[in-house]
Amino acid sequence: KFSTDSLGGQGNVRVLVRARPFLQREIDAECKCLLSMDQSLGTTTLYRPDDIDFSDDGVSDLGTPLSRRVRDAKEFAFDESMWSVDRMTKNTQFVDQDLLYDKVGREFLDHSFEGYHTCMLAYGQTGAGKSYTMNGTDREPGLIPRTCYDLFQRIEKMTTATMTFTVKISYFEIYNEHVYDLLLPVTTDPPTPLKVRESPVDGPYVKDLTTHSVRSYAEVEKYLMLGNKQRATAATNMNATSSRSHAVFTLALKKIESDPIIDETTEETNSRIRFVDLAGSERANSTGATGTRLREGANINKSLTTLGRVISILAESALGSKKRDVVPYRDSTLTWLLKDNLGGNSKTAMIACISPCDYEETLSTLRYASQAK
Ligand code: ADP
Repeated sequence: KFSTDSLGGQGNVRVLVRARPFLQREIDAECKCLLSMDQSLGTTTLYRPDDIDFSDDGVSDLGTPLSRRVRDAKEFAFDESMWSVDRMTKNTQFVDQDLLYDKVGREFLDHSFEGYHTCMLAYGQTGAGKSYTMNGTDREPGLIPRTCYDLFQRIEKMTTATMTFTVKISYFEIYNEHVYDLLLPVTTDPPTPLKVRESPVDGPYVKDLTTHSVRSYAEVEKYLMLGNKQRATAATNMNATSSRSHAVFTLALKKIESDPIIDETTEETNSRIRFVDLAGSERANSTGATGTRLREGANINKSLTTLGRVISILAESALGSKKRDVVPYRDSTLTWLLKDNLGGNSKTAMIACISPCDYEETLSTLRYASQAK
């Protein structure tokens, strides 16, 4: 049910919701599952904790409750609603990392090989599964490693005497509207932010950001590990946690085709694949913060709100809306730098990650995601 796909690849925006399973501490605390999903319709329904009646419920602990006194159920529709709770009622498909890659990653990579930009973003409160979705774990790799792996497999198959590929990567984070290179060791305290510039040809870019040529998945993995470690260290140095920064991992793919007859003619196709692990959305509505925390919260709020507006305007214009709102890319560093990956012929997927048992935060994420749609 990918409604915008029929529009010839124009401004494709897809919004998906992914519920993570219960964590051990939530199982121990006997938390209730507040969600149900209808995967064929792509809907997610959220129930108030006191609305759920577990009395004659066969799966009372964690699965979708069979009976409830529903006074205030809130239903939201998305392109996909993905369930990962492993102990659950029948008829619901369990979307693991492999299936998620099938649903989003593979097709986005096809698009990149056709020469278009793509962007996959993970949104949600801290602990809702953003990093699991993007990076994953050693045993359950997420979208980034799967895409990179597939990328090199395809390159190997497609490379010929007249068609070659190059891949370059970069990894940066945005904290308090400032950009920091995650693949460069921090040498100053506090770390020095990089400048954001605009070029007439390439659009907005980060000046002096390091880019690294990579030839294999193993090389990418090395940089990813370095960047993730750096993100955590940088956060400590800035007296923050990594959940307060947006991390942007970029793959720049170049396809070079040469004409076998006329040697000198070569044609290049460039595309950029971006993965964004957004700052925890709970900061966006935190109250009572002061000083640094307040500024941090305000900046996260600004970029997430702007991102929501940008995606919503793009989704609307893809659906043929007459409303010609100006897309407010410039309103935050994040949206400004993602400009080329969000608009035009790019494909964008926002994966809104939710916890199965946190009413307020899940409601706020579902609202955000459905407004972006
Ligand atoms: P975030 O990046 O949003 O702060 P994490 O990705 O770190 O959240 O997820 C919190 C915990 O939940 C981690 O232990 C992670 O492995 C687990 N988790 C999250 N999503 C899933 C999922 N879909 N399936 C299994 N475990 C998950």
